[in-house]
Order: sequence, then structure tokens, then C-alpha cells
Amino acid sequence: MIRVPRIAATTRDIICSATSNADTDFKRFVRKEIARFEKEAEHYKILAELNSLYKVAPHSEVGLSTRDNFKAIYSEELSSAGGAARSHYDLIRASAPYGLCPYCGVGYVDQVDHFLPKSKFHEFALTSVNLVPICSRCNKNKGAKFAKRGCDQYIHPYFDLVEGIWLNCKIVFAPEVKVRFVISAEDVGEAMANRLERHFDDLKIGELYAAYSSSYLSVMRQQFLDLLDKRGVNALKFDVSEQLKQAERESSTGNDWKVALLRCLVSLPEFLERDNIKAIPSPENYPAWRCTAPS
Ligand SMILES: [Zn+2]
Repeated sequence: MIRVPRIAATTRDIICSATSNADTDFKRFVRKEIARFEKEAEHYKILAELNSLYKVAPHSEVGLSTRDNFKAIYSEELSSAGGAARSHYDLIRASAPYGLCPYCGVGYVDQVDHFLPKSKFHEFALTSVNLVPICSRCNKNKGAKFAKRGCDQYIHPYFDLVEGIWLNCKIVFAPEVKVRFVISAEDVGEAMANRLERHFDDLKIGELYAAYSSSYLSVMRQQFLDLLDKRGVNALKFDVSEQLKQAERESSTGNDWKVALLRCLVSLPEFLERDNIKAIPSPENYPAWRCTAPS
């Protein structure tokens, strides 16, 4: 999970841009209510800081405040290429460090997510802190889901700082090689571990990381075998330890799939057995093999 710096634009900035051409009753309504939307955005921030966004009730439709009206202004003025507030949409997408999706850490950001979905919380459709950069895969998997309990909340890229090591990898070699990514509560506590598990399950992140792991293990298989056959167990151990150090240097959080995978290999006695390494399908067998074992 990647923490993203919040964009400088406020809810007022976004609403003013989106309604700059106030040619409809609805746009005039949004402008008139701007102070209320700002106040609700402040309340959102306070709850998010307290890990309590799940306490916000879905919005009711009253008068001009309808899902359809807010969806229309978002799609016409914010996400559309010619929209009056499109520059904010572009800045939100550009705010993700390295263009990487803060939800999965590996996808490329090409969309903007409503952390609390606009189909249920339509008055947050233009609220700056609710607009988060995301990759299309995570956005599709997240859909209109939202938490009704604290332990079901997704990790919010603007507010949740998850420190410590929480991603572990587990490998079995028989009857076939399978890799599984699991959340450890040791550093982050049970409550955050539950949230991370929900985040991983819903967004199918374990499957994504297992796919990267399949590719890596398959490509490295021959190097592992050569090291074992020509230079022995200690040379293989040393090589994998060096790869782990390199992966840790490249990782900003220590919870990348590669770090977790190598951390597992380094401490797994079975990995040093020739038959087990041979059980990893070679790249020629691609695409028949996927080492995913989601549960
Ligand atoms: Zn993603």
C-alpha cells in the first residue's frame, strides 16, 4: 500500500471549477450549498483520521441532491476530457508516486476512485479527500463496495499509514508448487491486519502478486538449479539472500511481493532441495502454470 500526498485542491476549488459554467439548476444548487459540502469534507477528514469513515451513513436523495445529478456533473465536468474541472482529475491521477496504484502497489494509475462510492455517497462525488488515484483493475474490483464495520475498511491512501512488515508469503512444493500471500498481524495489530485482509481479498491483490511470483520463479528456476549443482547449497542460499537485500533496497515499504517471496525462500529449508526446485515449471511450460493459491 502506498501513501499518497493529498492534492492541494480543496473541495471548494473542485466545486467552483465544475460549476464554472453554472448553466443548470443543479450547478447553481451545488454552488449555493458549497459551505455545507466543505463542512462535510472536514467531517470526512476527522473520521478518516480516526479510522472511522465506516460511520458515515449513505446519502439520501433530497430535492436536487440526487445520485444521477452528482454522477452527471462528475462525468461531464471532472472525468471527461473537455470538462471544466478536468485539470483536477489529471492532478489527482498524477499525485500517485511513480504513477503506481496506491491500492495494489503495482498497477498503473489511469483512473480516479471515489473511496466512498458515489453511487452510495453522491454528495462526496466532488469532495477532494474522497477522490483517490487508482488503477483500472483495482477500481473494477472495488466497484461500489464500502465498509459497514471498521474491520472491513479499505486502506485509505490519504490517511492510513501502515508501518511495519505485514506481508508474508507461503510456498508449498507438493503436489505442485503454490504460492500464497498472507497478512501478518505481528507488527500492525489485529484491527489493521483485518482491514488489510479485506483489502487484499476484495481487490484480488494476492492473485496479482502470485502471478508476478510465478513469472519470477519460473525464470529463475534454471539459475537456482545451476547454483545448487555447480556450487552447492550455501551458494544458493547466499545468492537468494543477496537478491533479498537488493529487493529490500528497491522497496519503499518492505511489503512488496518480491521482498515477501524472497524472505520466504531464504528461510525455507525445502527450497534448498533439488527436487523441489525442479518442481517449479520452466518458462517453456508457460502459460499452463499459475502458482496462485488464493485460499
Ligand atoms: Zn491497483
